[in-house]
Amino acid sequence: MQKLKEILATTVEASEGPSTSSSWSLRQSAAQDEWQKARPYHLDCLLFSRVVKENKCSQCSSPAIIRCRDCMPEEWLCMECDLICHKKLALHNRESCIDRFYRPIPPTMCCAKENGRYTLKNQVRLLPTVRPDRLCTCGPSNITESAGRATILICINVDVFSTFEEMKTVAPGLSRQDFLRLLEQRTQQFGRAVRKAEVESQRLENLSRELRCPENMVQQWVHDVRQWATDDSNKIRQLRRRKLGDEKRKLFEAIKQYNEQVPEEEGINEEMVESRLSVVGHASGEEILIWPWEVHSTESTNILTKKIFDAYMSKMRLQEEKILILREMRQHCTYLRGLADSIRKLIAEMSGGNRGSLTEEGHCGLCCLLQEKLADVEEKFQVVSSRYSLALGPLYPEDWSKEIPDESKRLEYESSEDSDSEDD
Ligand SMILES: [Zn+2]
Ligand SMILES: [Zn+2]
Repeated sequence: MQKLKEILATTVEASEGPSTSSSWSLRQSAAQDEWQKARPYHLDCLLFSRVVKENKCSQCSSPAIIRCRDCMPEEWLCMECDLICHKKLALHNRESCIDRFYRPIPPTMCCAKENGRYTLKNQVRLLPTVRPDRLCTCGPSNITESAGRATILICINVDVFSTFEEMKTVAPGLSRQDFLRLLEQRTQQFGRAVRKAEVESQRLENLSRELRCPENMVQQWVHDVRQWATDDSNKIRQLRRRKLGDEKRKLFEAIKQYNEQVPEEEGINEEMVESRLSVVGHASGEEILIWPWEVHSTESTNILTKKIFDAYMSKMRLQEEKILILREMRQHCTYLRGLADSIRKLIAEMSGGNRGSLTEEGHCGLCCLLQEKLADVEEKFQVVSSRYSLALGPLYPEDWSKEIPDESKRLEYESSEDSDSEDD
């Protein structure tokens, strides 16, 4: 009995808590209220964690510029101490904090001071491998190490990995191989279209030469076929009739020749052939007997003419594809440039002292975060534009991406930016 009383007493105490309402919706709204109250604090804390504080080097106590995630617990290093400490520890996981954000740097990079400002520059790093006891006939005392060919490159694209994660949740059946194949295909898309267009152009040229037909004749054929597909012009119909008449005449000549050579009972009945043909003709099918590309041609070139038409259409299709891809590339570049501009604008606004509802620390953290995003976008733009320039080849001018963007597209991108920044 005593125990039961105790239990009941604790239950009553617990039920006096803030959100033990029996109604689910009431509990939900209470939790929502609590969250609304706590949200600014958490946001501030989150942003504050991005602040790059000024630290002292753990070795010599001058201002630190490198953070090493493997040299725990003394993670902060100045420019000189970083060089000394990591000479032998080439594969340590280091970050620089130039521009007030942490930027992961590869082993082949170090900090340098130029014009009173810290920058990153390339440096030679020896691969940490075992020194051999003997090398051919030389003794170990004669062996020296020096920089040679670059042999290692650590390059992990976090962006791709997160995309893969997302794809795994959407399509769990997709294997890693499939994903890699997909990436490969995307990469080759443009190169393939351009190469195919070149091949098709070459094929068309060869065929034209083979048939001794100039470019304008091909154009005429294509024009005729297009008209045939859309509209039955009188001119085409006339040409068809004439052609059909020729074919008919040839057929009857052949029948005549044949009939002369065989006994009478095996001969072909010309009247029956004639009536068959006119039945087809009556149902306006006579035009079906002749393809549009046959109208202009003589018998021997018919098949080649068909081929040349196919080649021409294939070339046109690939050229259209090329234009589309070019437009997509340009839009991508414009989008990235616009994004960088708007981040720069935001940074300028924030450095004007407009803190909004954030605390001093939160504001500072947001500045660091924006700097990081800006550097990220700028780097992406560099990579994207250099890749695209490479894919386009030397025929395209350097400033192919600097076209004034389509106004509607611009608006679309701007609105998507807005939603992005809200998510962040
Ligand atoms: Zn130091
Ligand atoms: Zn280290």
